[in-house]
Amino acid sequence: MLMNTPAHHFTKTLKTFKTAAGREGKFFSLPELAKTYPNVNRLPVSIRIVLESVMRNCDGKKVVPEHVAELASWKPNAERVDEIPFVVARVVLQDFTGVPLLADLAAMRNVAADMGKNPKTIEPLVPVDLVVDHSIMVDHYGTKDSLDLNMKLEFLRNRERYEFMKWGMQAFDTFGVVPPGFGIVHQVNLEFLARGVHKTAKNHAHAGVYYPDTLVGTDSHTTMINGIGVVGWGVGGIEAEAGMLGQPVYFLPPDVVGFQLSGRLREGVTATDLVLTVTEILRQQKVVGKFVEFFGEGTETLALPDRATIANMAPEYGATMGFFPVDKRTIEYFRGTGRSEREIENFEAYFRAQKLFGVPKAGDIDYSAVVKLDLGTVAPSLAGPKRPQDRIEIGKVKSQFATLFSKPPSENGFNQPAELLNRRYPVKAQGGPANGDAPPVPPEAPRSVREMVDNKPTMAAAKDAETVIGHTAPGLAIGNGDVLIAAITSCTNTSNPGVLLAAGLLAKKAVEAGLTVQKHIKTSLAPGSRIVTEYLTKTNLLPYLEKLGFNLAAYGCTTCIGNAGDLTPEINEVITTNNLVCAAVLSGNRNFEARIHPNLRANFLASPPLVVAYAIAGTMNKDLMTEPLGTGKRGQDVYLGDIWPSSDEIYALMKFAMNGKAFRANYEKVASDPGKLCKQINGVKGQVYTWPPSTYIAKPPFFNGFTMEPPHAAAGVIGARAMALFGDSITTDHISPAGSIKEASPAGSWLKANGVAKADFNSYGSRRGHHDVMMRGTFANVRIKNLMIPALPDGGREEGGLTLLQPSGEKMFIYDAAMKYIAQGTPTGIFGGEEYGTGSSRDWAAKGTQLLGVKAVIARSFERIHRSNLVGMGVLPLQFKGSDSWQSLGIEGNELFDIELSANIKPQQDATLVITAKDGKTRRVPLTLRIDTPIEVDYYKHGGILPFVLRQLLAG
Ligand code: SF4
Repeated sequence: MLMNTPAHHFTKTLKTFKTAAGREGKFFSLPELAKTYPNVNRLPVSIRIVLESVMRNCDGKKVVPEHVAELASWKPNAERVDEIPFVVARVVLQDFTGVPLLADLAAMRNVAADMGKNPKTIEPLVPVDLVVDHSIMVDHYGTKDSLDLNMKLEFLRNRERYEFMKWGMQAFDTFGVVPPGFGIVHQVNLEFLARGVHKTAKNHAHAGVYYPDTLVGTDSHTTMINGIGVVGWGVGGIEAEAGMLGQPVYFLPPDVVGFQLSGRLREGVTATDLVLTVTEILRQQKVVGKFVEFFGEGTETLALPDRATIANMAPEYGATMGFFPVDKRTIEYFRGTGRSEREIENFEAYFRAQKLFGVPKAGDIDYSAVVKLDLGTVAPSLAGPKRPQDRIEIGKVKSQFATLFSKPPSENGFNQPAELLNRRYPVKAQGGPANGDAPPVPPEAPRSVREMVDNKPTMAAAKDAETVIGHTAPGLAIGNGDVLIAAITSCTNTSNPGVLLAAGLLAKKAVEAGLTVQKHIKTSLAPGSRIVTEYLTKTNLLPYLEKLGFNLAAYGCTTCIGNAGDLTPEINEVITTNNLVCAAVLSGNRNFEARIHPNLRANFLASPPLVVAYAIAGTMNKDLMTEPLGTGKRGQDVYLGDIWPSSDEIYALMKFAMNGKAFRANYEKVASDPGKLCKQINGVKGQVYTWPPSTYIAKPPFFNGFTMEPPHAAAGVIGARAMALFGDSITTDHISPAGSIKEASPAGSWLKANGVAKADFNSYGSRRGHHDVMMRGTFANVRIKNLMIPALPDGGREEGGLTLLQPSGEKMFIYDAAMKYIAQGTPTGIFGGEEYGTGSSRDWAAKGTQLLGVKAVIARSFERIHRSNLVGMGVLPLQFKGSDSWQSLGIEGNELFDIELSANIKPQQDATLVITAKDGKTRRVPLTLRIDTPIEVDYYKHGGILPFVLRQLLAG
């Protein structure tokens, strides 16, 4: 059977497993490897899954036997020194991060075509799925046609991006797009994209070998997939691109914290309550950069969606993953979500053969540390008002809000006089005079948005339309603690039928009791898949949610990503004029200030039924444990306990949610019926993109002048100027902001010059497919401080992306200076402090740096992903030694700089910074080159990872 298999260092571990139906499959066996490395049997399950990938992909080049030996010998508390190359099975993308990645692929095809090669040579080597979920906003809410109108606006705003994606759908065989309106990336991944185990293709060196699903995704909550035993986490775009083109993702083997669960959740306690408790515990345990793995008999009691909810919030508790092993509950979930019997059998048989099936018991595995939780102690909770780890038991929410209202910001408070807590402030009726004598306005927006959008297809029209959305009835007054947004949103919870059915049941009982929600509260239901609507309809619960304003508003991230849409201008005015602390309650996972809405300062994360309950209560100043939620139709007090659904009631409806047929029928439509709006999108056809004029999408310049041989550039940099001197903790958002584009900025000027009205600027995030916008936006964060610019008279620092052009010292935008330096052929460098490039991974932070002609970044220390992204774009990261810094060396920014490297670059070699002062005096400063691995040396020599991979693909 193995006769034709080429030599492979671990061929002797190739074994066969048998499925229940008697089919056989080959696999690289971990139990067999354990005969050489007995330690394997006690490794955390997640480490063993990575080990399988390292063993299977051991090609003697990118992955060598020493990597296998190192990981097989993982020790719970060893010092972590050497990175491990991890080749993943697939890649998932959301649309904000996916578009620039698709643009790079499209540009590679142009290169192939220009060189007379078959453009199809450029094809992702592992399957890639892009789910369009980040762009829809809750402009409309509380009406039957909210979803329809919001989607129309979404397509209007994003037409050029969607045309480009449509080209990608037809051009690449291994690049799938789940169109807008299907759901949220992580829920779609859980319900549909994850297929259990994979099998190598016929043309593979080891054809027909089964291996477990693993992935990276360009979204931090990719970890949700850890709930079904898939190893995977969020990475930056450049790493994802590398993974997609067959390059390993490099990571230091982490510590693995075992989380032992015992007992069972009590009656009335939800998965959301549990995840908020887990987040609070793990934040205290400091699990940043670690894997967390759940085990113990309590884990076995958790249904799969509950596990996924816990895995989803790994970024909030700081871990790289929150991993759950595969067991019979995973198999049940696969069956309930419509995976085929064959897939399920292969999946189960594979994991059993690897001795990875089942939840480990205490003592089975050597973890770096063990944390324990008795599920029976978890209580209904919210988290907030500013951080997900600040959990508050529901009976303490009112008092905690009252306390924080007057506490200083240093104690997480809002610094407001206590006597204002219960004051009410009148709101003008829409378009009318001050409240009290305003004429009545109709509850629905009087202008037809549909009409406006159809007749004036510009984003400005959409903006216009937005201004009439919302409800501000006469007599309305608002105050501190008022709930103004209540959103059932976010993959964290909407993938969990238990909590959504609970929300529906609570809504039903509330409506039957005669409770209502005030119309000015922006209520929305934005599930992460259409399946939710299907089971809420079948169970006849949707009409009750709708009666309370929770009409379907979108299938997408919406409020969770800050796309809550605006409040009415009248409400905004009262909040800002009176500095009110108003609230949002959402079933999301992040709540830091201004994430949900710029004017809502208190944001609470809660389970979907509690979102409905707080919408009814309308305020955080009510104790839902002791005070009535509202008054019923007979004038009676109705308490939360009166309408809270029981576990039995939820369980009785669960069969409607776990219906394999319904899942299959729904996801078949991704290909067969992507929707009317999607069908109306017409884009370029063919294998090569022709780049029609657009201010959203343009051919990236990373391959301009590409040759098959890497250019013979001298190692090091000569005669560079400093572009900026930065302090500590410069984030990727400082380097490449995602938010709004200022009119007076280089990007704003460019957009205006290209005919884009200010109202249509959109955000940097949505324009990541266009380098002309993004390079102008690099270092353009309005809060960034270039310390090369002298202090202001009051000692403060000027903010914004400015620099002093050298040697004249003329002050200008960094972008403008960069263009002058590039025109002169002068290289540039950036000086930073500690943790340069911290914050969320953002590929444009490295891409933009490269496009501005920056050749080196010299800092006290680097954030891990940004450092590797710099190398990936051919920019040298260098680190000061000892206590050296640009400040201690007296660097002012007007000097000339050389960076000397040995011709034969080695990882982490010594380098020298030669500083030539204005008076011609020179100094030599030792540095460490932060190219950390041999493969990174290759990336650098090739001018970055993209040309490196392109050369490999074209040569192949
Ligand atoms: S719903 Fe929230 S957590 Fe989920 S993918 Fe969207 S933004 Fe991320």
